Amino acid sequence: MCGIVAYVGSKPAQALLIEGLKRLEYRGYDSAGIAVMHAGRATVVKKAGRVANLEAELASRGPLAGTMGMAHTRWATHGGVTDLNAHPHRDDKAGIVVIHNGIIENYASLKTYLMDKGHRFVSETDTEVLAMLIGELYEGGEGGLEAAVQAALREVTGAYAICVMCEKEPDTLVVARKGAPLMVGIGAGEYVVASDASAIVAHTTQAFPLDDYNVVRITRNGFRTSTTTNVAVTPKVMQLELDLEQIELGRFEHFMQKEIFEQPAALRNTMRGRLQAEDGKVVLGGLSALAKQLVRSRRVILTGQGTALHAATIGEYLLEDLAKVPAHAEYASEFRYRNPIIEDQTVVVAVSQSGETADTLAALQEAKDRGALALGVVNVVGSSIARETDAGVYLRVGPEIGVASTKAFTGQVAVLALISLFLARRRYMSADQCAAMIREMQSIPGKIERVLEQDERIKKVAEKYCERENWLFLGRGYNYPTALEGALKLKEISYIHAEGMPAAEMKHGPIALINDGMPAVFIANKGRQYDKVLNNISEVRARGGHVIAVATEGDAEIGKVAEDVIYVPEIDEPLSPMVTVVPLQLIAYHAAVLRGHDVDKPRNLAKSVTVE
Ligand code: GLU
Repeated sequence: MCGIVAYVGSKPAQALLIEGLKRLEYRGYDSAGIAVMHAGRATVVKKAGRVANLEAELASRGPLAGTMGMAHTRWATHGGVTDLNAHPHRDDKAGIVVIHNGIIENYASLKTYLMDKGHRFVSETDTEVLAMLIGELYEGGEGGLEAAVQAALREVTGAYAICVMCEKEPDTLVVARKGAPLMVGIGAGEYVVASDASAIVAHTTQAFPLDDYNVVRITRNGFRTSTTTNVAVTPKVMQLELDLEQIELGRFEHFMQKEIFEQPAALRNTMRGRLQAEDGKVVLGGLSALAKQLVRSRRVILTGQGTALHAATIGEYLLEDLAKVPAHAEYASEFRYRNPIIEDQTVVVAVSQSGETADTLAALQEAKDRGALALGVVNVVGSSIARETDAGVYLRVGPEIGVASTKAFTGQVAVLALISLFLARRRYMSADQCAAMIREMQSIPGKIERVLEQDERIKKVAEKYCERENWLFLGRGYNYPTALEGALKLKEISYIHAEGMPAAEMKHGPIALINDGMPAVFIANKGRQYDKVLNNISEVRARGGHVIAVATEGDAEIGKVAEDVIYVPEIDEPLSPMVTVVPLQLIAYHAAVLRGHDVDKPRNLAKSVTVE
């Protein structure tokens, strides 16, 4: 689930591995550890807490010698957050050392089997079971470690990205994956393996991602890729497009802040080459081969989790409103287990920043098995969801490092708007209408810039209310999913309890909560239901609640009912979430900073949730 970095080469491994772990810190984790091989011995150092704790421990011991090693940031799933449960884990027989992202689902039965064989466990983790199993199956000789890893993985169910070393083969690193990302970077006489490209690009831009059930044996002299059944595989080496600047903070204090401010540029990138205003056409290379099938689709199911689900819900509104196709957004975790009915000509759209979200991936597979056409709306090129879908449209917003998603959200909404227009134009929309929408799309980055210019003023609003422990976020129509997203942002990083809901729903219960201590944020820009939202604002005010409104520039009415107003430029309702969400992102960001929280490493959270 969290971070893996490993190195095989001729440079001292420790510094390189620690630097790699730091690049992976953004993913959220609770412990860190390292193993370096030297003179046939693997030294393991691991600590609960931040990478800085591990560094302090290493500093007190003196540097580890060795030019091959691996390091891990753990996001605990099995066993508490302790030094002992941190990775790497060892076996008790063959000198095996393992780091692992994911979950070994059948660890309990394997553990019983291994205990019967006399193995002694020291941690509570599923990972230690894998280390013991590899040790148990290790026979040395030709194939040695590689064969033992293959054999062990044939016994395992669950998800894993692993790196394995063996003291009896001190020049060999074996890595493997199933259901959790891992890639091998190929440098000059050196290899850097990592769970995400950000730990590789400082060293090389040539890399290949592992497919499920791939096992790679790496030495300084080369590598061999095979499957867990030892069938040789030819990896697809690609050029990583990430550059270091994209994953560094620059003039910003936090990645979340940087990414909020990057949104105008990110969205210009999302739209680049995809909009032809003169012809009223949207060009989506990824979908063109399937255009006929998509135009005839009778239903679209959009699925995701967290922020991606909020974007998907906006997609539901967009598809029905613009393309006139029945659409429905649903939690992937619910969809996959509720025995869903997939009728003929159904399209499933999986929405995920990382493209690795376990629930979304599983929902997609379920829908595909039931005959749906599968589309992906993801950011990370070559990710699992991107590879599993029949077609898709990338966000192109650049790497998102902040755990709380911001530019990926606006990117997802933008892509879903593009897909809606792509279909709409081929179904019911005239070229003129489409051209008008395209021009509106093109105006969005500039309008977001105008919101960002008000950062200081938005910070003042956050200052005024950041001590309050309970907030409501309310909106109607397109503003309802935006309200959900505003509440989620605040929860994630400021740890304030916040609820988002349709503004009309408030009267059906939550209004009982309204009192002097409770700010309510209304997304109240001009749109079809504006008057009704004004009524809802008055209802809150009448009960002593505080109202912060996001409203359209030039609205003279709103100031009479709301205490604090943040103005956004006028924008067509279907596209407005990309602009109205920005003040909500900034409120959450400032509230969290003011409350003293580590915005980029919120407690308990991981960046991409690759476990169910
Ligand atoms: N399941 C393993 C553990 O709890 C690995 C967790 C991870 O992905 O970091 O230790």
